[in-house]
Amino acid sequence: MDKTSSVSIHEGKPIRCKAALCRKAGEALVIEEIQVDPPQAYEVRIKILCTSLCHTDVAFWKLEWGPLARFPRILGHEAVGVVESIGELVDGFKQGDVVLPVFHPHCEECRDCKSPKSNWCSRFCDDFVSNTRRYGMASRFKDFSGEDIYHFFFVSSFSEYTVVDIAHLVNISPEIPVDKAALLSCCVSTGVGAAWKVANVEEGSTVAIFGLGAVGLAVAEGARLRGAAKIIGVDLNPDKFEIGKRFGITDFVNPALSGEKKISQVIKEMTEGGVDYSFECIGLTSSMEEAFNSTRTGSGKTVILGMEKQMLPISLGSHDLLRGRTICGTLFGGLKPKLDIPILVDSYLKKELNLNGFITHELSFEEINKAFDLLVKGETIRCVLWMDK
Ligand code: NAD
Ligand code: ZN
Repeated sequence: MDKTSSVSIHEGKPIRCKAALCRKAGEALVIEEIQVDPPQAYEVRIKILCTSLCHTDVAFWKLEWGPLARFPRILGHEAVGVVESIGELVDGFKQGDVVLPVFHPHCEECRDCKSPKSNWCSRFCDDFVSNTRRYGMASRFKDFSGEDIYHFFFVSSFSEYTVVDIAHLVNISPEIPVDKAALLSCCVSTGVGAAWKVANVEEGSTVAIFGLGAVGLAVAEGARLRGAAKIIGVDLNPDKFEIGKRFGITDFVNPALSGEKKISQVIKEMTEGGVDYSFECIGLTSSMEEAFNSTRTGSGKTVILGMEKQMLPISLGSHDLLRGRTICGTLFGGLKPKLDIPILVDSYLKKELNLNGFITHELSFEEINKAFDLLVKGETIRCVLWMDK
Protein backbone atom coordinates (compact mmCIF):
# COMPACT_ATOMS: atom_id res chain seq x y z
CA MET A 1 0.00 0.00 0.00
CA ASP A 2 1.17 3.57 -0.60
CA LYS A 3 0.93 6.54 1.74
CA THR A 4 -2.55 7.51 0.58
CA SER A 5 -4.19 4.12 0.04
CA SER A 6 -6.65 3.02 2.70
CA VAL A 7 -7.10 -0.68 1.98
CA SER A 8 -4.78 -3.55 2.64
CA ILE A 9 -4.99 -6.95 1.01
CA HIS A 10 -3.12 -8.39 4.00
CA GLU A 11 -5.64 -7.39 6.66
CA GLY A 12 -5.96 -10.12 9.29
CA LYS A 13 -3.13 -12.14 7.69
CA PRO A 14 0.63 -12.29 8.21
CA ILE A 15 2.78 -10.14 5.91
CA ARG A 16 6.14 -11.20 4.54
CA CYS A 17 8.56 -8.31 4.22
CA LYS A 18 12.16 -7.24 4.69
CA ALA A 19 13.68 -6.34 8.05
CA ALA A 20 17.20 -5.57 9.28
CA LEU A 21 17.97 -8.16 11.96
CA CYS A 22 20.54 -7.72 14.68
CA ARG A 23 21.64 -11.33 15.20
CA LYS A 24 24.72 -10.68 17.38
CA ALA A 25 25.93 -7.70 19.43
CA GLY A 26 27.99 -5.27 17.37
CA GLU A 27 27.81 -7.32 14.15
CA ALA A 28 26.50 -5.92 10.86
CA LEU A 29 22.69 -6.12 10.62
CA VAL A 30 21.36 -8.63 8.11
CA ILE A 31 18.46 -7.81 5.80
CA GLU A 32 16.20 -10.87 5.89
CA GLU A 33 12.69 -11.77 4.88
CA ILE A 34 10.51 -12.03 7.98
CA GLN A 35 6.86 -12.61 8.84
CA VAL A 36 4.90 -9.88 10.61
CA ASP A 37 1.73 -11.16 12.29
CA PRO A 38 -1.52 -9.22 12.21
CA PRO A 39 -2.20 -6.81 15.08
CA GLN A 40 -4.07 -8.10 18.14
CA ALA A 41 -6.48 -6.07 20.30
CA TYR A 42 -5.16 -2.52 20.96
CA GLU A 43 -2.46 -2.97 18.32
CA VAL A 44 -1.89 -1.45 14.89
CA ARG A 45 0.25 -2.80 12.05
CA ILE A 46 2.07 -0.01 10.27
CA LYS A 47 4.06 0.27 7.08
CA ILE A 48 7.21 2.21 7.88
CA LEU A 49 7.81 5.08 5.43
CA CYS A 50 11.17 6.16 6.81
CA THR A 51 13.21 5.63 9.95
CA SER A 52 16.32 7.25 11.37
CA LEU A 53 19.08 6.12 13.66
CA CYS A 54 19.40 7.36 17.26
CA HIS A 55 22.34 6.73 19.57
CA THR A 56 20.11 4.51 21.73
CA ASP A 57 19.87 2.04 18.80
CA VAL A 58 23.67 1.97 18.66
CA ALA A 59 23.88 1.42 22.45
CA PHE A 60 21.53 -1.59 22.29
CA TRP A 61 23.18 -2.93 19.13
CA LYS A 62 26.50 -3.01 21.05
CA LEU A 63 25.02 -4.39 24.30
CA GLU A 64 26.63 -7.79 24.86
CA TRP A 65 25.19 -8.96 28.18
CA GLY A 66 22.42 -8.40 30.73
CA PRO A 67 18.65 -8.80 30.54
CA LEU A 68 18.38 -6.08 27.88
CA ALA A 69 20.79 -7.79 25.46
CA ARG A 70 18.51 -9.88 23.22
CA PHE A 71 19.02 -11.43 19.82
CA PRO A 72 17.83 -11.79 17.14
CA ARG A 73 16.20 -8.41 17.41
CA ILE A 74 14.71 -5.70 15.21
CA LEU A 75 16.04 -2.36 16.47
CA GLY A 76 14.87 1.15 15.47
CA HIS A 77 12.51 3.52 17.25
CA GLU A 78 12.62 6.87 15.38
CA ALA A 79 10.22 6.59 12.45
CA VAL A 80 7.04 7.52 10.60
CA GLY A 81 4.55 5.05 9.23
CA VAL A 82 1.13 4.65 7.73
CA VAL A 83 -1.53 2.43 9.26
CA GLU A 84 -1.92 -0.81 7.26
CA SER A 85 -4.46 -2.53 9.51
CA ILE A 86 -5.86 -2.30 13.02
CA GLY A 87 -6.64 -4.89 15.69
CA GLU A 88 -9.83 -5.15 17.72
CA LEU A 89 -10.75 -2.42 20.20
CA VAL A 90 -8.60 0.15 18.43
CA ASP A 91 -10.10 3.62 18.60
CA GLY A 92 -8.71 6.71 16.94
CA PHE A 93 -6.65 5.03 14.20
CA LYS A 94 -7.72 3.86 10.75
CA GLN A 95 -6.06 2.46 7.66
CA GLY A 96 -4.11 5.14 5.80
CA ASP A 97 -3.44 7.39 8.83
CA VAL A 98 0.06 8.84 9.05
CA VAL A 99 1.42 7.93 12.48
CA LEU A 100 4.47 8.31 14.68
CA PRO A 101 5.49 5.32 16.80
CA VAL A 102 7.00 6.49 20.11
CA PHE A 103 9.09 4.40 22.52
CA HIS A 104 7.54 6.15 25.52
CA PRO A 105 3.99 4.97 26.38
CA HIS A 106 0.97 7.19 26.98
CA CYS A 107 -2.09 5.15 28.00
CA GLU A 108 -4.09 8.33 28.78
CA GLU A 109 -6.01 6.51 31.51
CA CYS A 110 -3.72 5.88 34.48
CA ARG A 111 -3.32 8.27 37.39
CA ASP A 112 -0.01 9.63 36.08
CA CYS A 113 -1.16 9.99 32.48
CA LYS A 114 -4.08 12.06 33.79
CA SER A 115 -1.81 14.22 35.94
CA PRO A 116 0.04 17.18 34.35
CA LYS A 117 2.98 16.61 36.72
CA SER A 118 5.02 14.28 34.51
CA ASN A 119 4.98 12.12 31.40
CA TRP A 120 5.31 8.91 33.42
CA CYS A 121 2.67 6.31 32.51
CA SER A 122 2.44 4.19 35.65
CA ARG A 123 0.39 1.58 33.86
CA PHE A 124 3.06 0.76 31.29
CA CYS A 125 6.38 2.57 31.92
CA ASP A 126 7.83 0.08 34.41
CA ASP A 127 7.90 -2.70 31.83
CA PHE A 128 10.56 -2.05 29.21
CA VAL A 129 11.58 -5.67 28.63
CA SER A 130 8.46 -7.20 27.06
CA ASN A 131 8.08 -7.52 23.31
CA THR A 132 4.47 -6.37 23.16
CA ARG A 133 2.78 -3.98 25.60
CA ARG A 134 -0.16 -6.10 26.68
CA TYR A 135 1.02 -9.61 25.72
CA GLY A 136 4.39 -9.91 27.50
CA MET A 137 7.01 -11.79 25.52
CA ALA A 138 4.64 -12.66 22.64
CA SER A 139 6.37 -11.46 19.47
CA ARG A 140 4.71 -10.38 16.22
CA PHE A 141 7.87 -11.19 14.22
CA LYS A 142 9.19 -14.55 12.98
CA ASP A 143 12.30 -15.28 10.95
CA PHE A 144 12.58 -17.67 7.94
CA SER A 145 12.78 -20.71 10.25
CA GLY A 146 9.71 -19.70 12.27
CA GLU A 147 11.74 -18.51 15.30
CA ASP A 148 10.48 -15.52 17.23
CA ILE A 149 12.40 -12.25 16.82
CA TYR A 150 12.67 -9.81 19.74
CA HIS A 151 11.03 -6.38 19.49
CA PHE A 152 12.83 -3.20 20.56
CA PHE A 153 11.32 -0.43 22.72
CA PHE A 154 7.80 -1.42 21.51
CA VAL A 155 8.58 0.06 18.06
CA SER A 156 11.12 -1.98 15.97
CA SER A 157 11.15 0.34 12.99
CA PHE A 158 14.01 -1.33 11.09
CA SER A 159 11.40 -3.38 9.26
CA GLU A 160 9.08 -2.62 6.35
CA TYR A 161 6.14 -3.46 8.62
CA THR A 162 5.87 -3.47 12.40
CA VAL A 163 3.15 -3.92 15.03
CA VAL A 164 2.76 -1.15 17.62
CA ASP A 165 0.45 -0.83 20.63
CA ILE A 166 -1.87 2.20 20.50
CA ALA A 167 -0.28 3.47 23.74
CA HIS A 168 2.85 4.03 21.62
CA LEU A 169 1.24 5.60 18.57
CA VAL A 170 0.37 9.20 17.68
CA ASN A 171 -1.65 10.46 14.73
CA ILE A 172 0.01 13.39 12.97
CA SER A 173 -0.94 15.91 10.31
CA PRO A 174 0.06 14.63 6.85
CA GLU A 175 1.17 18.21 6.08
CA ILE A 176 4.56 17.76 7.75
CA PRO A 177 7.20 16.09 5.50
CA VAL A 178 7.67 12.54 6.77
CA ASP A 179 11.42 12.75 7.28
CA LYS A 180 11.00 15.85 9.48
CA ALA A 181 8.19 14.09 11.34
CA ALA A 182 10.49 11.15 12.14
CA LEU A 183 12.67 13.55 14.16
CA LEU A 184 9.68 14.17 16.43
CA SER A 185 9.41 10.45 17.14
CA CYS A 186 12.49 10.67 19.41
CA CYS A 187 15.43 13.12 19.25
CA VAL A 188 13.81 16.51 18.68
CA SER A 189 10.88 15.90 21.03
CA THR A 190 13.31 14.69 23.71
CA GLY A 191 15.59 17.72 23.41
CA VAL A 192 12.99 20.45 22.92
CA GLY A 193 10.78 18.92 25.61
CA ALA A 194 13.67 18.88 28.09
CA ALA A 195 14.27 22.61 27.52
CA TRP A 196 10.60 23.62 27.54
CA LYS A 197 8.88 21.28 29.91
CA VAL A 198 11.51 19.85 32.26
CA ALA A 199 13.88 22.81 32.70
CA ASN A 200 11.39 25.49 31.63
CA VAL A 201 14.25 27.67 30.28
CA GLU A 202 13.34 31.34 30.37
CA GLU A 203 14.38 34.42 28.39
CA GLY A 204 17.86 35.73 29.15
CA SER A 205 19.05 32.55 30.91
CA THR A 206 22.36 30.75 30.47
CA VAL A 207 22.53 27.14 29.31
CA ALA A 208 25.22 24.46 28.88
CA ILE A 209 24.66 21.39 26.71
CA PHE A 210 26.99 18.40 26.99
CA GLY A 211 26.95 16.47 23.67
CA LEU A 212 25.82 18.06 20.42
CA GLY A 213 24.20 15.13 18.65
CA ALA A 214 20.59 15.43 17.52
CA VAL A 215 19.34 15.37 21.13
CA GLY A 216 21.73 18.09 22.33
CA LEU A 217 21.06 20.26 19.27
CA ALA A 218 17.33 19.92 19.88
CA VAL A 219 17.87 21.15 23.46
CA ALA A 220 19.67 24.17 21.92
CA GLU A 221 16.76 24.76 19.55
CA GLY A 222 14.33 24.67 22.49
CA ALA A 223 16.50 27.05 24.53
CA ARG A 224 16.93 29.39 21.53
CA LEU A 225 13.16 29.57 21.04
CA ARG A 226 12.79 30.45 24.74
CA GLY A 227 15.23 33.35 24.29
CA ALA A 228 18.22 31.99 26.24
CA ALA A 229 21.02 34.59 26.21
CA LYS A 230 24.01 32.22 26.20
CA ILE A 231 23.99 28.60 25.04
CA ILE A 232 27.31 26.83 25.58
CA GLY A 233 27.87 23.62 23.62
CA VAL A 234 30.34 21.03 24.95
CA ASP A 235 31.60 18.42 22.49
CA LEU A 236 34.82 16.63 21.58
CA ASN A 237 34.07 17.04 17.88
CA PRO A 238 35.07 20.57 16.76
CA ASP A 239 32.76 20.34 13.69
CA LYS A 240 29.79 20.48 16.06
CA PHE A 241 30.31 24.19 16.83
CA GLU A 242 29.59 25.38 13.28
CA ILE A 243 26.62 23.01 13.10
CA GLY A 244 25.48 24.12 16.58
CA LYS A 245 25.42 27.82 15.64
CA ARG A 246 22.41 27.11 13.42
CA PHE A 247 20.53 25.89 16.50
CA GLY A 248 21.47 28.82 18.72
CA ILE A 249 24.77 27.64 20.26
CA THR A 250 26.65 30.85 21.09
CA ASP A 251 29.84 29.44 22.67
CA PHE A 252 31.77 26.20 22.33
CA VAL A 253 33.94 24.24 24.76
CA ASN A 254 36.04 21.32 23.58
CA PRO A 255 37.06 19.16 26.58
CA ALA A 256 40.09 17.94 24.62
CA LEU A 257 41.45 21.51 24.57
CA SER A 258 40.73 22.61 28.13
CA GLY A 259 43.98 21.23 29.59
CA GLU A 260 44.00 20.62 33.35
CA LYS A 261 40.84 22.62 33.93
CA LYS A 262 37.58 20.81 34.48
CA ILE A 263 34.82 21.72 32.05
CA SER A 264 32.67 22.88 34.98
CA GLN A 265 35.39 25.36 35.95
CA VAL A 266 35.63 26.65 32.37
CA ILE A 267 31.85 27.10 32.24
CA LYS A 268 31.73 28.83 35.65
CA GLU A 269 34.36 31.30 34.44
CA MET A 270 32.41 31.95 31.24
CA THR A 271 29.20 32.65 33.14
CA GLU A 272 30.33 34.37 36.35
CA GLY A 273 29.47 31.48 38.62
CA GLY A 274 27.68 28.84 36.55
CA VAL A 275 24.84 28.35 34.12
CA ASP A 276 21.17 28.46 35.04
CA TYR A 277 20.54 25.17 33.22
CA SER A 278 22.74 22.29 32.10
CA PHE A 279 21.76 19.27 30.01
CA GLU A 280 23.67 16.01 29.63
CA CYS A 281 23.10 14.48 26.18
CA ILE A 282 25.98 11.97 25.92
CA GLY A 283 25.30 9.18 28.41
CA LEU A 284 28.52 9.30 30.50
CA THR A 285 28.53 9.49 34.30
CA SER A 286 31.58 11.80 34.20
CA SER A 287 29.79 14.35 32.03
CA MET A 288 26.61 14.06 34.14
CA GLU A 289 28.68 15.05 37.18
CA GLU A 290 30.39 17.85 35.25
CA ALA A 291 27.01 19.11 33.99
CA PHE A 292 25.80 19.29 37.61
CA ASN A 293 28.98 21.06 38.74
CA SER A 294 28.56 23.65 35.95
CA THR A 295 25.35 25.15 37.32
CA ARG A 296 24.86 28.15 39.54
CA THR A 297 24.79 27.65 43.33
CA GLY A 298 21.36 28.29 44.77
CA SER A 299 19.25 27.86 41.67
CA GLY A 300 21.04 25.84 38.96
CA LYS A 301 19.15 22.96 37.40
CA THR A 302 20.62 19.94 35.60
CA VAL A 303 18.65 17.67 33.31
CA ILE A 304 20.02 14.23 32.37
CA LEU A 305 18.97 12.99 28.92
CA GLY A 306 21.91 10.72 28.04
CA MET A 307 21.43 7.01 28.63
CA GLU A 308 24.26 5.35 30.57
CA LYS A 309 23.90 1.82 29.32
CA GLN A 310 25.32 0.01 32.38
CA MET A 311 22.99 2.03 34.66
CA LEU A 312 25.99 3.17 36.77
CA PRO A 313 25.47 5.54 39.74
CA ILE A 314 26.69 9.14 39.73
CA SER A 315 28.35 11.10 42.52
CA LEU A 316 27.09 14.55 43.60
CA GLY A 317 28.25 16.89 46.36
CA SER A 318 25.65 16.71 49.13
CA HIS A 319 26.35 20.33 50.05
CA ASP A 320 25.78 21.43 46.46
CA LEU A 321 22.31 19.95 46.80
CA LEU A 322 21.83 21.58 50.23
CA ARG A 323 22.68 24.89 48.67
CA GLY A 324 19.81 24.66 46.24
CA ARG A 325 21.04 23.13 43.00
CA THR A 326 18.76 20.46 41.55
CA ILE A 327 19.15 17.58 39.13
CA CYS A 328 16.66 15.29 37.42
CA GLY A 329 16.46 13.03 34.41
CA THR A 330 13.86 12.71 31.73
CA LEU A 331 12.58 10.28 29.16
CA PHE A 332 11.13 11.74 25.97
CA GLY A 333 11.76 15.28 27.27
CA GLY A 334 8.91 15.10 29.76
CA LEU A 335 6.41 15.17 26.88
CA LYS A 336 3.16 13.26 26.84
CA PRO A 337 3.34 11.92 23.28
CA LYS A 338 -0.34 12.10 22.26
CA LEU A 339 -0.77 15.62 23.68
CA ASP A 340 2.56 17.24 22.93
CA ILE A 341 3.73 15.85 19.57
CA PRO A 342 0.82 17.55 17.72
CA ILE A 343 1.90 20.84 19.40
CA LEU A 344 5.44 20.40 18.04
CA VAL A 345 4.09 19.55 14.57
CA ASP A 346 2.01 22.71 14.70
CA SER A 347 5.00 24.78 15.80
CA TYR A 348 6.97 23.42 12.82
CA LEU A 349 4.11 24.15 10.38
CA LYS A 350 3.93 27.72 11.75
CA LYS A 351 7.66 28.02 10.94
CA GLU A 352 8.64 28.48 14.60
CA LEU A 353 10.34 25.17 15.40
CA ASN A 354 13.35 24.67 13.13
CA LEU A 355 13.75 21.09 11.91
CA ASN A 356 16.32 21.90 9.21
CA GLY A 357 19.90 20.77 9.67
CA PHE A 358 19.22 17.64 11.73
CA ILE A 359 19.11 15.32 8.71
CA THR A 360 22.62 15.22 7.28
CA HIS A 361 22.34 11.93 5.38
CA GLU A 362 19.65 9.99 3.52
CA LEU A 363 20.13 6.38 2.46
CA SER A 364 18.03 3.46 1.31
CA PHE A 365 16.97 0.92 3.96
CA GLU A 366 19.39 -1.64 2.44
CA GLU A 367 22.27 0.68 3.35
CA ILE A 368 21.45 0.56 7.07
CA ASN A 369 24.92 -0.61 8.11
CA LYS A 370 26.40 2.49 6.50
CA ALA A 371 24.07 4.57 8.68
CA PHE A 372 25.39 2.80 11.81
CA ASP A 373 28.94 3.47 10.67
CA LEU A 374 28.24 7.17 10.16
CA LEU A 375 26.67 7.60 13.63
CA VAL A 376 29.35 5.58 15.42
CA LYS A 377 32.07 7.71 13.79
CA GLY A 378 30.19 10.92 14.67
CA GLU A 379 29.88 11.86 10.99
CA THR A 380 26.12 12.35 10.92
CA ILE A 381 23.52 14.08 13.07
CA ARG A 382 20.62 12.05 11.76
CA CYS A 383 20.64 9.63 8.84
CA VAL A 384 17.20 8.93 7.41
CA LEU A 385 16.62 5.50 5.85
CA TRP A 386 13.90 5.40 3.18
CA MET A 387 12.05 2.10 2.91
CA ASP A 388 11.00 2.52 -0.73
CA LYS A 389 14.19 3.93 -2.23
P1 NAD B 1 24.91 11.26 19.15
O1 NAD B 1 25.85 10.12 19.10
O2 NAD B 1 24.34 11.75 17.87
O3 NAD B 1 25.59 12.50 19.88
C1 NAD B 1 26.44 12.41 20.98
C2 NAD B 1 27.42 13.61 20.95
O4 NAD B 1 28.23 13.56 22.12
C3 NAD B 1 28.36 13.59 19.74
O5 NAD B 1 28.36 14.88 19.13
C4 NAD B 1 29.73 13.25 20.35
O6 NAD B 1 30.80 13.89 19.65
C5 NAD B 1 29.58 13.83 21.76
N1 NAD B 1 30.47 13.20 22.75
C6 NAD B 1 30.72 11.87 22.92
N2 NAD B 1 31.55 11.68 23.97
C7 NAD B 1 31.82 12.92 24.47
C8 NAD B 1 32.59 13.40 25.57
N3 NAD B 1 33.28 12.54 26.36
N4 NAD B 1 32.64 14.72 25.81
C9 NAD B 1 31.96 15.60 25.01
N5 NAD B 1 31.20 15.20 23.94
C10 NAD B 1 31.13 13.89 23.70
O7 NAD B 1 23.74 10.85 20.17
P2 NAD B 1 22.19 11.27 20.21
O8 NAD B 1 21.44 10.41 19.28
O9 NAD B 1 22.09 12.76 20.14
O10 NAD B 1 21.84 10.76 21.70
C11 NAD B 1 22.46 11.36 22.82
C12 NAD B 1 22.14 10.59 24.10
O11 NAD B 1 20.75 10.74 24.41
C13 NAD B 1 22.39 9.07 24.03
O12 NAD B 1 22.89 8.63 25.29
C14 NAD B 1 21.00 8.50 23.81
O13 NAD B 1 20.89 7.16 24.26
C15 NAD B 1 20.18 9.45 24.66
N6 NAD B 1 18.75 9.55 24.37
C16 NAD B 1 17.93 9.71 25.43
C17 NAD B 1 16.58 9.89 25.24
C18 NAD B 1 15.69 10.13 26.43
O14 NAD B 1 14.46 9.98 26.33
N7 NAD B 1 16.24 10.51 27.56
C19 NAD B 1 16.05 9.89 23.94
C20 NAD B 1 16.93 9.76 22.87
C21 NAD B 1 18.28 9.60 23.09
ZN1 ZN C 1 -0.64 5.88 31.62
